[in-house]
Amino acid sequence: MIPAKFDYMAPTSVEDALSALAQHGDDAKIMAGGQSLLPVLRMRLNAPEVVIDLGRIDGLRGVREDGDALVIGALTTHSEMVTNDLVRQHALLLSKAAAEVADNQIRHRGTFGGACAHADPAGDMGSAALALDAAFVIAGSGGTRSVPASEFFVGLFETAIGEDEILTEIRVPKKTGWGAHYEKFVRVAHQWPIVAVAVTVNSSGGTISEAKVALTNMGSTPLRASATESALAGAAATEDGVRAAADQAADGSNPPSDLNGDSDYRRHLATVLTRRAVLKAAGA
Ligand SMILES: Cc1cc2nc3c(=O)[nH]c(=O)nc-3n(C[C@H](O)[C@H](O)[C@H](O)COP(=O)(O)OP(=O)(O)OC[C@H]3O[C@@H](n4cnc5c(N)ncnc54)[C@H](O)[C@@H]3O)c2cc1C
Repeated sequence: MIPAKFDYMAPTSVEDALSALAQHGDDAKIMAGGQSLLPVLRMRLNAPEVVIDLGRIDGLRGVREDGDALVIGALTTHSEMVTNDLVRQHALLLSKAAAEVADNQIRHRGTFGGACAHADPAGDMGSAALALDAAFVIAGSGGTRSVPASEFFVGLFETAIGEDEILTEIRVPKKTGWGAHYEKFVRVAHQWPIVAVAVTVNSSGGTISEAKVALTNMGSTPLRASATESALAGAAATEDGVRAAADQAADGSNPPSDLNGDSDYRRHLATVLTRRAVLKAAGA
């Protein structure tokens, strides 16, 4: 379908984008890579009067270091996340998750910030950001604020970003030297996951000292598998060593039931995928 008619603006600074948002309010919609927004407009699930394209704001792109954190511009594409040396060195999990998003064409346009702002419960980047304790920097007319990932994902397609605000960057505490794996279960290649598990671990000599684990599509937001994380501390990186911890992965989750599988199936899947992901992250 063809979207309803809208005006198009392409500001070159965050300030100008915020002014445009303030001017048009509910009638405006922000666009990053357009890979989720344009399908929504084409299906006429939303019909904004104005689309504000962030694509000409160069300051929203790229990855830099800031002490113990990586600072990733909201407009950094999934493709850049896959190949960027800083991301691979200090936040390998994000690189691994980004490699699993859709196909090459979509990864070249879609952005890390756009994916998180869209907050699709089946989106791949949210659980990776949650596992890494990322913080989301949000700009508004009163300045910027930082929201931890645990508070950023509020509900189904809902985040802490206000209607008059823009996500500008994502700050990720470095996990240099940690192993990582994103285990995604799909029926057909390049699809959204039925369930996926994001894992990063600090391990040496075959023993896991610390693990961060988060689940995709096991509820209306990305979820932390806290019981699994606790049980993995000090576990041997072997099938038997991680089994009991992985079996707790679905604790506290509320997975959907749909044509791809019911909630019990998803709970079981989460335990199996967690076991695989932890072992791969630990290099076992
Ligand atoms: C065929 C297809 C398959 C896909 N498969 C997958 C998949 O397997 N896994 C997966 O995770 N994703 C998948 N996607 C989605 C893809 O990852 C998108 O890139 C992502 O969801 C949105 O990123 P975007 O930059 O394109 O954002 P846009 O589409 O431009 O925006 C998405 C939403 O976020 C808002 N927004 C964007 N940026 C900002 C910002 N900086 N501040 C405030 N609000 C903002 C927009 O207003 C809009 O509501 C798929 C998409 C398609 C079309």
